[in-house]
Amino acid sequence: KKVADRYLKREQLGEGTYGVVFKALDTKTGQTVAIKKIRLGNHKEGVNFTALREIKLLKELKDPNIIELIDAFPHKGNLHLVFEFMESDLEAVIRDRNIVLSPADIKSYIQMTLNGLAFCHKKWVLHRDMKPNNLLIAADGQLKLADFGLARIFGSPGRKFTHQVFARWYRAPELLFGTKQYGSGVDVWAAGCIFAELLLRKPFMPGVSDIDQLGKIFANFGTPKTVQWPDMVYLPDYIEFQQAPAPPLRSLFPMASDDALDLLSKMFAFDPKARISAQQALEHRYFSTVPAPTYPALLPKVP
Ligand code: ADP
Repeated sequence: KKVADRYLKREQLGEGTYGVVFKALDTKTGQTVAIKKIRLGNHKEGVNFTALREIKLLKELKDPNIIELIDAFPHKGNLHLVFEFMESDLEAVIRDRNIVLSPADIKSYIQMTLNGLAFCHKKWVLHRDMKPNNLLIAADGQLKLADFGLARIFGSPGRKFTHQVFARWYRAPELLFGTKQYGSGVDVWAAGCIFAELLLRKPFMPGVSDIDQLGKIFANFGTPKTVQWPDMVYLPDYIEFQQAPAPPLRSLFPMASDDALDLLSKMFAFDPKARISAQQALEHRYFSTVPAPTYPALLPKVP
């Protein structure tokens, strides 16, 4: 039986923040797709309408490093989002102990991540929930950002579950201090955490609570001084932390090149206004010096 007279439903792929994801065949194109079923549940037609309008905008976001939203339709009270099917994700690559990641491979993954981010930021769309399992990997090796813009439409997982298990590790300090006027800097911070995770092959700052998360950030980068981040003290959930000095960044990433460390430090600027943008990061010398980023087709594959 076809869904929406077009998709042949196959097995369930997983269960995510917004609902169940299943594999399907698009009979119109012959393409394998992933359909995300989003429960519209309690918030009825109002959100439904806004959501559909916003989703129309997401369908226009087409870039090699953004997962394509092929179709969107309501069906039996659920919203169905149809995406291109992806083979794997960056979390699986990072966790696979049999995979060796060369400096050129890491550069390639980060370049593709920043490419996708820069494209969306140029169109004023934020991701807001970047994490390695949201960075999907296509059969041709291209990394594509998934779930772009969904946090804004359906609410961040944080509003539904008090403890956002994974996303917290990638959360920028301004979000942890409760800012309401966040910008594209939150995605750059998260990309920095993912860059660090590729270098370390384990989560860089796995905080167990929001306070612990800030503690880990300040232990690595020092407690921010007012001159570094003048607006910090005015944030809604600001609390004072004990002053701590920053260890040399080099001691945290002994294997990274000087260029990699310089870019990383700019992605981890405390003040979101001073933080490097995704576009500026792509223009950083890290990407123009040797080694050149690995061609996507030559990147390691998860079996
Ligand atoms: P989360 O909200 O936790 O990020 P998702 O809702 O994005 O999770 O996805 C749940 C699971 O469905 C993922 O772990 C992944 O295995 C699978 N999945 C999601 N999108 C795709 C896709 N485009 N192609 C293949 N599998 C996907």
